[in-house]
Amino acid sequence: MTAGPATLDAPSACRRAGAGLRGIETVATADMERTERLALMRSGELGSVHSWELVTAVDGPGTRLTVFLNGCPLRCRYCHNPDTLAMKDGEPVLADELLARVGRYRGVFAATGGGLTLSGGEVLMQPAFAARVLRGAKELGVHTCLDTSGFLGANATDAMLADTDLVLLDIKAGDEETYRRTTGRSLAPTLRFGRRLAELGVKVWVRFVLVPGLTDDPRNVERVADHAAEIEAERPGTVERVEVLPFHQMARDKWAELGRTYELADTPPPTPAATEAVREVFRARGLTTY
Ligand code: SF4
Repeated sequence: MTAGPATLDAPSACRRAGAGLRGIETVATADMERTERLALMRSGELGSVHSWELVTAVDGPGTRLTVFLNGCPLRCRYCHNPDTLAMKDGEPVLADELLARVGRYRGVFAATGGGLTLSGGEVLMQPAFAARVLRGAKELGVHTCLDTSGFLGANATDAMLADTDLVLLDIKAGDEETYRRTTGRSLAPTLRFGRRLAELGVKVWVRFVLVPGLTDDPRNVERVADHAAEIEAERPGTVERVEVLPFHQMARDKWAELGRTYELADTPPPTPAATEAVREVFRARGLTTY
């Protein structure tokens, strides 16, 4: 079975995960010894997957098969996919099963300049599985993309990054205090990862979610733009684009379904003028910005 029409709301740093795992077989891990399951996960053969979908004009260039993995160490206040946060909530899927699905779309990818995007949750919570899938995709001649906050960038080996054509790097705030208030974690690992990507020659699309009252302070915006410019300065041509994503309320229902308190329930989206003004801050540093 193929995916239904993609729901295109906004690029993935601020959009909902797919609707499910249609057409992808899951593994009956209940029949498996725990040690066997863990060994498969450690080797990268088995992953915890939330969903997949076929999308165009989001998650990287062309038409993409985006796979959402489970597990995330951050707790972003605006999280658009709170149902992907826990690894245990995902479905067990074999890397080969996923790659069979990737292989079926090779023609579409070739015709549109698209490929595979691994998203989440946080992909780098499952580095062995991600590396295995990225390697398999490259063996199929498919363009690969990693959508990540970069917080667990140290989990990505150089070999894995050699199999990654593009990283969608979410810089969620520009200073430690705002980053911690937004995500509960530290900004420094993301910046280290960004510099490393530049050193390794991996292309980057920087993403920044503009949330009124949380990330829209002009000083914060300036700092995010500085960080993006620093990555670009490390190796010119690295930051192919910046995407400023206006916050939206599409995740509110999910938080309610999960019985969690959504602190941003009353936060409005930024106005188009405010979003455009923020884009100009990035453009002023010579960065191509959407
Ligand atoms: S990085 Fe933030 S927005 Fe993305 S899944 Fe994790 S908590 Fe949610």
